[in-house]
Amino acid sequence: PVTPDPLRIAVVGGGIGGLAAALAAARSGHHVTLVERAARFGEIGAGLQLAPNASLALEELGVLTAVQHTAVAPPRLVMMDALTGDQITSLDLRGAAYTERFRHPYLVTHRTDLHTALLTACREHPAVTLRTGHTVTHVEQDASGAQLHFAESSAILTADAVVAADGLHSRLRQALVGDGEPVCSRYVAFRGALPTGKMTGRMSQHAASEAVMVWAGPRMHLVQYPVRRGELYNQVAVFESDHYTPDSDDWGTEAELEERFAGTCQAIRDSLPLVSRDRRWPLYDRLPIDNWVHGRILLLGDAAHPMLQYLAQGACQALEDAVALGQALGRFPDPADAFAAYAAQRRERAARIQTNARRFGEICHLEGMGATLRNVLLSSRTPDDFDDISWVWTPAAAGVPAL
Ligand code: FAD
Repeated sequence: PVTPDPLRIAVVGGGIGGLAAALAAARSGHHVTLVERAARFGEIGAGLQLAPNASLALEELGVLTAVQHTAVAPPRLVMMDALTGDQITSLDLRGAAYTERFRHPYLVTHRTDLHTALLTACREHPAVTLRTGHTVTHVEQDASGAQLHFAESSAILTADAVVAADGLHSRLRQALVGDGEPVCSRYVAFRGALPTGKMTGRMSQHAASEAVMVWAGPRMHLVQYPVRRGELYNQVAVFESDHYTPDSDDWGTEAELEERFAGTCQAIRDSLPLVSRDRRWPLYDRLPIDNWVHGRILLLGDAAHPMLQYLAQGACQALEDAVALGQALGRFPDPADAFAAYAAQRRERAARIQTNARRFGEICHLEGMGATLRNVLLSSRTPDDFDDISWVWTPAAAGVPAL
């Protein structure tokens, strides 16, 4: 293969996707400037599940060992009925069937720990320049290059190529794709991590097991898992609001959270008071698009494929994007060819996961007879049966279901 001349690449956004893309591009021999609008780099104080496709990507980015220093490798992924407290099904994440099939660990981590590992690797790479307090307002491009403009000053950053990793509400996507606002699902999440020792009652046993617990109930669910060497316990309570209005924040409130979870089993009621109430996150996605590349600008991460979190794949897919971009930039001397190869490799897979994330949410939130049928069907599975999820956890897997 030809070694391409180094390009000047600008990455917009210093989240998990942007940092991973900066690292991947630098590792493939290019000069990267990453601009982030916040005054300081950071992530929110909650957890993140990293399926084996993400740990493979982290290995390819050279940061898997750093992430593993603090991440937990949970022994099992358990789905429970939120009303009865009975187990529906589980997956064994450390057994021979898992290891032979996926070869990379299933990890749960604090977002800050993953973000710090990526940020440290970027800081240590001589070809990466990081700038905070830079909000991109717009990008102009012509035959000679792209020019990035900022809200804070009249300075202009010139680049050969631009990676738009500016998240769910991406300003660059809005300018390039024009598909309106993200789609609000009417669901909302309350989430946060607390010292594991604070878990009481039946929940302390679940926390001690280190399993990922998914409590599925009618139009709501609770996810729990340990992070940061088991010192913190992450909880995410999700429910559908009956009071959604597009123009107000007065829906999906704490009072509705209590109401929706009122009929749940004792174990959930033990932990609900400990679910963080500091902030609520309305949950959005978008329909898949084909046009990820616009001249010298390409979309990556949530800017390209925002998805509901029910398959726990948004960040995993952003990491896959970054690796694919790095490989394409290392292979093709012309950035246009590299971008086309990147989009061709990633578009279809990300779209399928976006689409199936919605479906999995519907299955999780079934009520009445639907929930009974789900429980009967899933309870016949064995913990080493990965056939349904394998395509999600395996990059470029064969046998991907139709959209
Ligand atoms: P972001 O994290 O949104 O980063 C975008 C960055 O761009 C931000 O730092 C922002 O400040 C910056 N920015 C924005 N506009 C500009 C601008 N104009 N100029 C400069 N900078 C700008 N994913 C998983 O893989 N596993 C999980 O378990 C999981 N759980 C989730 C649970 C919940 C409740 C939610 C809501 C999501 C979950 N996700 C999960 C999804 C995951 O959080 C996202 O997919 C991922 O963080 C997206 O990363 P990103 O870098 O693309 O975007």
